[in-house]
Amino acid sequence: MPEGDAIHRAARRLQVLVGQELEVEAPHPRAAVKQLAPKLDGRRLESVEAIGKNILFRFEGGLVLRSHLRMSGRWRVLDRDAPVFGTPWLVLKGEDHAGVLWNGPVLELDRGVARRLGPDILAEPPDYDGMVERIRREDSRRQIGDALLDQRLVSGIGNIWKVESLWTQRISPWRRLGDVSEEELRAVLSTAHDVMRARVEGVPFRAAIYRRKGHMCPRCGTPVEAWPQGDDARMTYWCPTCQKGEGPATA
Ligand SMILES: [Zn+2]
Repeated sequence: MPEGDAIHRAARRLQVLVGQELEVEAPHPRAAVKQLAPKLDGRRLESVEAIGKNILFRFEGGLVLRSHLRMSGRWRVLDRDAPVFGTPWLVLKGEDHAGVLWNGPVLELDRGVARRLGPDILAEPPDYDGMVERIRREDSRRQIGDALLDQRLVSGIGNIWKVESLWTQRISPWRRLGDVSEEELRAVLSTAHDVMRARVEGVPFRAAIYRRKGHMCPRCGTPVEAWPQGDDARMTYWCPTCQKGEGPATA
């Protein structure tokens, strides 16, 4: 699944199209029915921005195209006249380059999306105050591992970064928000920002406990545990010894 850092890399490559009037085509039938191409063709692209796992394209006239890649979507930037394989959902052609989207499960024109998303964990600098404020408005019984993946509270933290940041800060993903201090909350958010930023810059990353159920915790040697968490049943990983807080049994 494209995580937040991959989305940011794609948005960065797409910057070559900003400022240009684009030729817009929607070759894929499921994209064609949305009538996006006639609405966007010939408009100037004002900005491309990654917010959480969304890429937002702002066009002149206030039109905002939102692309969410889910599991399968992929943006590529090609030379304008390079051959395009398969049937892309959207082709945005500028003077020298073309942005091409394959398998774009979520593609829509939307003016309100930016308002509904929490502050972006990858922003420079991140709006930690805004994130903390949104998280504090949540039910204090909600578990922190679940809340960190809620895009309304903070956008862009993928499951792997949630798992690793909580481990780094020694906090159990099962701990209730009411039992997490402000200092701890800020430490987890800033760890997530730092590791994800490093990934955007291409720094290699090796997970300590993510997808390492049964392996020894690199810090204390206890076998790593794994259990689904939250309404989406995302698999979470934790060390029951050095990450303080309750486990799923009491959740
Ligand atoms: Zn441990």
